[in-house]
Amino acid sequence: MQTQTIPSPEECQKAVRAWIESFPVQPLAYLHSFGCQLNAADAEQIAGVLTSLGYGRTEDPAKASLILYNTCAVRENAEDRVFGTLGSIKHLKEQNPALIICVTGCMTAQPQVAETLRRSYRHVDIVLGSAAASRLPSMLYAHMHGQRHAQDITVYEDIPEGLPTQRTSSFKAAVPVMYGCNNFCTYCIVPYVRGRERSRQPEQIIEEVRSLIEGGCKEIMLLGQNVNSYGRDLGGGMDFPALLRQIDRIPGEYWIRFMSSHPKDATPALMDALLTGEHLARTLHLPVQSGSNDVLSRMNRRYTVEKYLSQVQYIRERDPQFSLTTDLIVGFPDESEADFEATLRLVEEVRYDNMYAFIYSKRTGTKAAAMPDSTSAAEKSERMQRLLSLQRRISTENNARFLGKTVRVLCDGESRKRPGNLTGRTSENLVTEFPGDPSRIGHFAQVQITQTSGGMLSGHLL
Ligand code: SF4
Repeated sequence: MQTQTIPSPEECQKAVRAWIESFPVQPLAYLHSFGCQLNAADAEQIAGVLTSLGYGRTEDPAKASLILYNTCAVRENAEDRVFGTLGSIKHLKEQNPALIICVTGCMTAQPQVAETLRRSYRHVDIVLGSAAASRLPSMLYAHMHGQRHAQDITVYEDIPEGLPTQRTSSFKAAVPVMYGCNNFCTYCIVPYVRGRERSRQPEQIIEEVRSLIEGGCKEIMLLGQNVNSYGRDLGGGMDFPALLRQIDRIPGEYWIRFMSSHPKDATPALMDALLTGEHLARTLHLPVQSGSNDVLSRMNRRYTVEKYLSQVQYIRERDPQFSLTTDLIVGFPDESEADFEATLRLVEEVRYDNMYAFIYSKRTGTKAAAMPDSTSAAEKSERMQRLLSLQRRISTENNARFLGKTVRVLCDGESRKRPGNLTGRTSENLVTEFPGDPSRIGHFAQVQITQTSGGMLSGHLL
């Protein structure tokens, strides 16, 4: 491999921009991001950096001068899809040797993946780990100067501020408040690929949120692997409820949502902020993962079912209809029938508006991957069906509380199934459909609910 000294990021940026400007026609970049909302937020920064370097965008890899995949490591089958996709674009590199193929994200932050790419995917030019946007110009510089298969998978623990961001929506935005995770849930790879928790300075977050609101943004999602530990590394008494309250004071017409919120760190102060905030969406996503204390302990979640239910009780005593949603893992190694029935009982008791349930999928590099598991795949999928059918019934019953009521929704698109209808979401994040003109998209509206089902609310605009 050819090596050379890489100048400062600013010099790299200048040199790469000058190189791109020298092309007879503007080169186009194809960018595809897999995985969670944090990855999508990273991709908006990557897109911003590529644009600032002079790249245009294309949705067709065959027309691109640079193809970038921003990958996710949460599920192993997602990784297989990335390897498959990389194999399927090899011919593009053969047709156009000047094409730059770049892979970034959590998947490539794993040394064994980077090694597989180096050995078996020689048509990949650049490999970068998570939070790649700030390092991209330096890697393009190295590539431009002849470095073959440039790799940098260091898990950097800095917080690059002020990166250009190309947002995908004019009225919804994601704002990371912190990066990394300290929790080491035994099924999760994130702490290994995104590093330890580090919080952005509150002033930077508040300024970014303020400028989004002033620019017409109507919904802002604050992101972190566990927003409830926001501020611990900053000192000075700043925590997530305090941050929420400060953001809530920004004048304007908008909603604030956030994720993810670890139950072990969810405090009454967080719930009080949600119950009283003017702009805070009235819903809390509190991922319980299992209703069995044994399973929770093997997951290293560090809360019990009893503690979780006391949090639910706190918020529901103050607002009996407060919307709660959750994540659940079905079939964690050696989950017994009794463990699973405990999960069903918890779901029945909490009565979530919605849930994201997954069958446990083994993740190499985590502790759970080495745990014995005697539950068959068929049993796991049968449990999953029972859980989903219970949740369908509860969602149907819960949604009926909106029948005949007027709800405020943020219109976010046109219905794919019913032409002429718009879709929107309520403060509780429930999907709502109603006839309306596309000019309403991106604005709040009042909708009278005339029909409800387990999946959504329907009605008409007032
Ligand atoms: S809190 Fe647990 S599940 Fe969430 S990112 Fe951290 S380790 Fe993974």
